[in-house]
Amino acid sequence: MACLRCDIGLPVGDHDEGCPACAADGHAANLRLVYPDAAPGRIVLPPADGFSMGEGGTPQVEVPDLAAAAGLGRLSLKLEWCNPTGSHKDRMSAPLMARARERVIPLMARARERVIPLMASARERGAPLVVAASSGNAGVSLAAYAARAGLPAEIVTTPAMPAGARRAIRAHGARLVEVADSAARWHHVGRRVADGAFAATNYRVPAIGTNPFGIEGYKILASEIAAHGLPDLVVVPCARGDLLSGLLLGFLELGRGVPRLVAAEPFPRLARVLAGADYRGSFPGRTAQLSIGGDTVTFQALHALGESRGRAVVADDDAARAAQARLGRAGFHAELSAAAALAAVFVLGADRALAGRHAVALLTGSGAGAMDEAAPPTDATSTDQRESR
Ligand SMILES: [Zn+2]
Repeated sequence: MACLRCDIGLPVGDHDEGCPACAADGHAANLRLVYPDAAPGRIVLPPADGFSMGEGGTPQVEVPDLAAAAGLGRLSLKLEWCNPTGSHKDRMSAPLMARARERVIPLMARARERVIPLMASARERGAPLVVAASSGNAGVSLAAYAARAGLPAEIVTTPAMPAGARRAIRAHGARLVEVADSAARWHHVGRRVADGAFAATNYRVPAIGTNPFGIEGYKILASEIAAHGLPDLVVVPCARGDLLSGLLLGFLELGRGVPRLVAAEPFPRLARVLAGADYRGSFPGRTAQLSIGGDTVTFQALHALGESRGRAVVADDDAARAAQARLGRAGFHAELSAAAALAAVFVLGADRALAGRHAVALLTGSGAGAMDEAAPPTDATSTDQRESR
């Protein structure tokens, strides 16, 4: 493994604190997996022992009507809600739960056989559990994939989680724990991890991002997009930048060029960091775009924008609602947070600087999915950290 920020090499492991060298330096930075013997031009993934629920291979649909309206030469929509549990998160859950299985299943066997030394610490005993903080899509996806992998899962959420997501998580047999706010949620996950549970989402502050084994799953999305011809831009609804980071890694591995990656965000976070703010700071804002809320940014998001010469575009709730309505009339019913990608396309195309260019907008979740319930805008403050919905 290697650090995205300082490039230091590390043995393969679940480094929940991110890069230890950067952490010691007061920075939070995620790691990536390195494949020294990989053939150039091909995506390599960590071994998953065939574990999959058929995620990926989602439709990419050309929408010339919307392209013309937005002022682009070509616009494609990638329908990520066609994944098994209805969002792009399934691409992450598959390799992440394959990795979790390697650690959690031996712990389950040990617990069954009662061979745990009585004097061992909690961390040594290990909790045979996958734990994740989520307010929606990630929780549903992780609960489903954990069930498929035979792993007990605990999803920690807040009152903001829509009823549809709650029903799905419970249907998969996961334990749903509700805490008062998002800061309490990350704290709860941290306690479970201290007991040896497998963390399937970020829980650190400043935020780092998801375990790199999960982010690997998004590399395939880059190859699916490139198979239709490398676009000029890929527009991504963005919170902590797992998807952005995985796309960058995928395009780099393919070696055919990296499109400009554009982060659509509901209020200025990355935009403020790109204008000079410290990425470890807090960037409060209020939004109904539940899946991409929260007041933190990550180094991995910043890195993906920097390496791809990309940018951040603010799509506020009014813009996202207008884009959602426009998508609906064009035959696509997107979750509000997903419609933010189209809203960002319209912002980018407004000055006609993208005439003739090809953009791909990722529609990460459906308006008829687990996030269906209309939620009131929620505040993102320094005590309100959201991750990986
Ligand atoms: Zn580092």
